[in-house]
This record gives sequence, structure tokens and C-alpha cells, in this order.
Amino acid sequence: MADKETQLVVIGGGPGGYAAAFLAADLGMNVTLIDPGENPGGVCLYRGCIPSKALLHAAKVIFESQDAEAMGLSFGGLKIDRDRLQKWKNDVVNKMTGGLGQLAKQKKIQHIRGEAVFEDSRNLRITTVGGNKQTLKFENAIIATGSYPAPFRGVEIESEHLLDSTSALDLNDIPKSLLVVGGGYIGLELGTVYAALGTKVQLVEMTPDLLPGVDKDLVRFVRQRVTSKFEAIHLQTTVKSMTARKKGIEVAMQGPQGEERSQAFDKVLVAVGRRPNSSGIGLENTRIETDQRGFIKIDGQRRTAESHIFAIGDVAGEPMLAHKATHEGRAAAEVIAGRKVVFEPAAIPAVVFTDPEIAWAGLTENEAKQKKIEVKAVRFPWAASGRAATLGRGDGVTKIVVEPGSGRILGVGITGPGAGELIAEGVLAIEMGANVTDVGLSIHPHPTLSETIMEAADVFQGTSTHFHAPKRK
Ligand code: FAD
Ligand code: NAD
Repeated sequence: MADKETQLVVIGGGPGGYAAAFLAADLGMNVTLIDPGENPGGVCLYRGCIPSKALLHAAKVIFESQDAEAMGLSFGGLKIDRDRLQKWKNDVVNKMTGGLGQLAKQKKIQHIRGEAVFEDSRNLRITTVGGNKQTLKFENAIIATGSYPAPFRGVEIESEHLLDSTSALDLNDIPKSLLVVGGGYIGLELGTVYAALGTKVQLVEMTPDLLPGVDKDLVRFVRQRVTSKFEAIHLQTTVKSMTARKKGIEVAMQGPQGEERSQAFDKVLVAVGRRPNSSGIGLENTRIETDQRGFIKIDGQRRTAESHIFAIGDVAGEPMLAHKATHEGRAAAEVIAGRKVVFEPAAIPAVVFTDPEIAWAGLTENEAKQKKIEVKAVRFPWAASGRAATLGRGDGVTKIVVEPGSGRILGVGITGPGAGELIAEGVLAIEMGANVTDVGLSIHPHPTLSETIMEAADVFQGTSTHFHAPKRK
């Protein structure tokens, strides 16, 4: 006999898990949510999206005040009260997670603070945060256990100066020097934060460019900007060894021509990807399968090989993004409620919150090339945007990837300040099956950055008002 029974158990309280639990409760289910956190939130709210964006906002304020000198505005020397900045960031997190806790109560979701392991395909064993053990029998389950930072294989050392994204976000220190290993989302976002706070940041990326896989024309402006804000960017470079020192870490690197260099840093932040939390949760006691990267195998409805158990979010595959987790979670909850639902988005947006931001949705040019899909990519440079000029930020581009015959919008890519907000229009256009005429004829307010989307659509027709790109006969 199990200690408790539930109609639906959700394992993991991140943006996938809590969104699933909340919708299931709204749809009338009896829901139990298991997560060790004091409140729902998971990685995204406690040690991911929210604290990083809070600190990136602080970085933006710093950079904007520095850039303002070009307008004749000078704010004097920057003083950073690290304790207050840390508290402000923690307050943001606590406000958001506290709100989720309230919502869970209002929706009568039972939150068990603990970690769950499958005993079999109908029962969980839970170890609570206080160390107690209990069992729970369930009718349906949603696995939303998320992911953890990938270990830096081959270069393992023990050092208090070695950071991962979680300890870097804690902001226990503003080091004089920082080496960031990995030029992906986390390396660039957190490197930007520390560079703004005055740390001399160097970055090592093993591939030939930052953000491998992202269209090069979108990455260009970010590369230019971080090159001016970071002390050095080492591309096609690998870390050969790290040696723990009392006051930092000595790092030996090898560059593209095999050249070797060694340098000591106060801190080293390793951000070389994330791995799914699929081991240690008792999947071997069920028929649930994982792929070779550890992601749980699921079908279009997010069902695992056990038809009453679903998996969503980072543990269920790429892209490892909060909004993808949320929408998968909501789809799974609907399926369990008996609705005929499939998770089939035409576009999952991605945003790198660097300065400038990079955002894309739908088909990218890289993907089109790989899949041999014929497309026409049209671009509107922000240098031609009135709003960008007023912001002093012509370092951006808006691109639309178009199906040549029909003019249908297949993908949108944007680089520039606020690109993360602007991309939502691209998502809507793709999901609605809009073509360039629909977007070009939709009146966008002036002067705004959103006009760059309208004008990129006009570029396809060769009729952009502010950018001369006549259609080739
Ligand atoms: P998670 O948020 O990882 O939550 C999983 C939860 O499950 C955790 O609370 C964990 O403790 C719990 N858990 C694990 N095992 C068990 C168990 N056995 N029993 C009970 N509970 C368990 N994404 C974006 O879209 N935008 C961003 O700006 C962004 N910024 C990020 C910044 C950083 C620094 C990091 C690290 C990530 C960022 N991400 C961002 C990615 C985003 O955080 C994840 O995609 C998202 O959190 C995944 O949600 P999830 O619900 O799958 O799982
Ligand atoms: P990532 O996959 O984005 O980037 C890892 C980078 O490290 C890659 O560029 C890779 O080439 C490089 N790398 C790998 N091994 C290396 C080595 N030995 N030496 C040098 N470089 C190496 O991973 P991440 O930055 O750790 O972020 C993990 C995931 O978290 C992201 O993929 C994303 O899904 C999510 N995330 C999203 C956001 C956002 O949405 N804004 C922000 C942060 C994290």
C-alpha cells in the first residue's frame, strides 16, 4: 500500500513542470507536484533565466550609461554595491517563486518538497528535503526533471575558483579576471554580466565562431560588441589543463595553429552545455527509454514508452528552453485530460540575451542549407532604421527567410537591442502562415524597431522605403 495516491504527479517544478501542474489543476485534476525547491520555479527561476536576466539588466544599464558619453552625457565613475545588486537579484527571484507558490496553493496542488524515484511504473518513492521517505501511487505522471551543467570532461579539478552557471549567478565575488569556457548562451550572457561589472573577461570557444549553429550574419554584431567589451576571445581554442592555485586557476590553452599559452585567472566559468536529468530517477524500473544523449524518448503527445507517463522540457530533448518546456507541459496536461492535442509548433523562438540580443524563430538559413530547402533570405539593416539611429544602435539586422514562390515566411532572425521582444511577431507570422505581403502591408508604428520586420518583408518585394535593394529581374 502506498502512503498517498494522486491522479497526476508532476516530477520537477521548473517552467515545464509547474505549467503542466497548473493547467492540469485548472482542468480539474487532483495534482501532486514534487520538487525540492521551497516554491515551484526550477532551474529557470532559481538559477537560470530570471537571475541571469536580472543581472543582464544591470549590465545593460552600465553599458548604456557608458555609451551615453557619445551624446554628451556623463554619469561619473561607476560604483558597484555588490551586496545590494545581489539582494536585488535575489528579491526578483523570491518575488517570482513566491508568486508561483501562492498560485500552486490557490489551485490546490499538493507540493511535496523532495526528490522522486520510480519504484515501478505506478509508484514513486520520495525522499523529502527533511530526509523522510514516503511512497506515492499515481494514475498519470509527467517527468519534468530538467537538466544540469555538463561536466568539463578531461579537465577536472577541485577549486573554489571554478564556477558553473549557478555559482556565477550567486555573485559572491566580482573577480578581477575571469576565463569563460564555452561561447554559447551561458558563456556569452554571463561573460557580458561580469564584463559590465568591471571584470577582465576572456572567452575560449573550441569552434571557429561564437554560438555555433546560429546564422553567421546574426552572430556578427555580437562578436564585434563582445570583442570590444571582453579582454580577449579565443576561437578554435581548447583548454588543455587547469591547475588549482591558492588565488585562482592556471589555465593552459591551445589555439588554432597548435600554439600553446598559459595564464592565471581569478575565476574560471565552465559553460559547455547541459545534460538531461534522466539518470537516478528509476527509469530502469519502468519501460521508459532514453536516447544516447540521455534524453527521454517521447512521441508527439510527449508520451513515453509507458503510455500514462509523459516527459517534457529539458529532460525530453532540445531545444533546452523554458518556453518550450512550458508549452510541452501544457500539451501533456491537455492530453491527460482527454483532449486531442499534439505538440507541433511551427516555430520555437530562441533568444540569446547578449548586447545586442540575437533572436530567431522557425527555419534558419543554416538549417535550410543543411536540409537543402530552397529559400530566399532578405535582410533589413538596422543602420537604415530611424529608431535604431535614435538609440545610437545601428548594429543590428532583421532577416526573413522566405519560401521563394509563395513568399511565405518560414523563419525570422533578428540581431539588435530588444530582438528578444521583436521576435514574437516573427513567431506569430510563421504560425499563422503569413507571407511577406501580409507583414509588409501591416502598418507598424513609427519610429520603432518593429518597422525593421515590415521593411525586411518589403525588401523581398524590392520595395523597402528606407533601404535600396531593388528586386533582381
Ligand atoms: P528545470 O527548470 O530544470 O526544473 C527541473 C526541476 O526538477 C528542478 O527544480 C529540479 O530540482 C527538479 N528535479 C530534478 N530531479 C528531480 C526528482 N527526481 N524529483 C523531484 N524533482 C526533481 N531558457 C530560456 O528559455 N530563456 C532564458 O533566458 C534562459 N536562461 C538560462 C540561463 C541559465 C544560466 C541557465 C542554466 C538556463 C537558462 N535557460 C533559459 C534554460 C532554462 O532554464 C531551461 O530550459 C528550463 O529551466 C527547463 O525547464 P524544465 O521544466 O525542463 O526543468
Ligand atoms: P551551449 O550549448 O549553448 O554552448 C556551449 C558552448 O561551449 C558551445 O559553443 C560549444 O562549442 C562550447 N564548448 C563545448 N566544449 C568546449 C570545450 N571543451 N572548450 C571550449 N568550448 C567548448 O551551452 P551553455 O551555454 O552551457 O547553455 C546550455 C543550454 O542552456 C543552452 O543550450 C540553452 O538551451 C540553455 N540556455 C538558454 C538561455 C537563453 O535562452 N537565453 C540562456 C542560457 C542557457
